[in-house]
Amino acid sequence: MNHLYQGLTGLQNLGNTCYMNAVLQCLCSMSPLVEYFLSGKYVTALCKENCESVTAFGYLMSDMWLGEFDCVSPEVFRLVLGERYPAFTKRTQQDAQEFLICVLNELHEALKKSSSRRCQGSTTGARESRVTVSETSIITQLFEGQLSYDITCLECETTTDKPEIFTVLSLLIPSESACSLQDCLRCFFQQDTLTWNNQIHCSWCGTKQDAAVKANITKAPKIIIFHLKRFDCQGNYKKKLLTDICYPLSNLDLSPYSYPFFHRNAKYSLCAVVNHFGFLDGGHYTAFCKHSVTKSWYSFDDSQITAIPNFSVQTAAAYLLFYTCQAFSAPTKSR
Ligand SMILES: [Zn+2]
Repeated sequence: MNHLYQGLTGLQNLGNTCYMNAVLQCLCSMSPLVEYFLSGKYVTALCKENCESVTAFGYLMSDMWLGEFDCVSPEVFRLVLGERYPAFTKRTQQDAQEFLICVLNELHEALKKSSSRRCQGSTTGARESRVTVSETSIITQLFEGQLSYDITCLECETTTDKPEIFTVLSLLIPSESACSLQDCLRCFFQQDTLTWNNQIHCSWCGTKQDAAVKANITKAPKIIIFHLKRFDCQGNYKKKLLTDICYPLSNLDLSPYSYPFFHRNAKYSLCAVVNHFGFLDGGHYTAFCKHSVTKSWYSFDDSQITAIPNFSVQTAAAYLLFYTCQAFSAPTKSR
């Protein structure tokens, strides 16, 4: 069967690699990222010593958008990525969120532009945190946001702010039965009090003090990724929260959590979902992606692709949610 539109290509399961396939389908439905790779722009940005995984990602993206195949294999990309992250070459289920973060890191490291490139001449392997503001890549341009934690000493009321960069926002789920994404966001952004072991050192008081802390979004990314923390791990005790979380397909408003003068009209629409079915071990991942050409939703279950109605996009299996503030247009191949 030939699919009518490009970008609807299944991914072969290489043995418990549904976590990988689900994440790759989501990334390969992000129009600006697709266009960046299909147009070949990435080639000029590549660092020489760190380019195999990006090249493999680019080839995979092209195969998925050529429209020639019903299903392709992500094996080459997996092998190359596995050189740095050996867990992903195992035939065991891995966490989709961890895989997503590794892929984004890997692409960023190989595509970043900075005045002094560490990947030239120096040994690879030492992973640098990317706090340096001057390092930008297609990944930071699309997915990177910034939080500010306002920390107020409860003794002298001095407030300091601590900025923090994020590409995936991990949200605690405040209910066992049912709640909304907005409940999770309110929980994340509500003011918290730090006491006992969590006290902060106040430089005004010169001692440890209780403090109030509140996070705000100071820079909202174009594409914001929410990780719903369904896997609850406390020591050896692990469980999965099966909470039915209601999330909007459009008009997600982040302005209540942003500094008032930022992004006053930042309304986000859902563009992709990674689902996790089942329990901790032996579960199964699938993806729902909104196709940028047809504007319809599809379910990607390894090699199987099914068109689904909008109302089916909401399920209790949602694990990662991708929202965009700009409607995607169909990617163009070359310019
Ligand atoms: Zn103080």
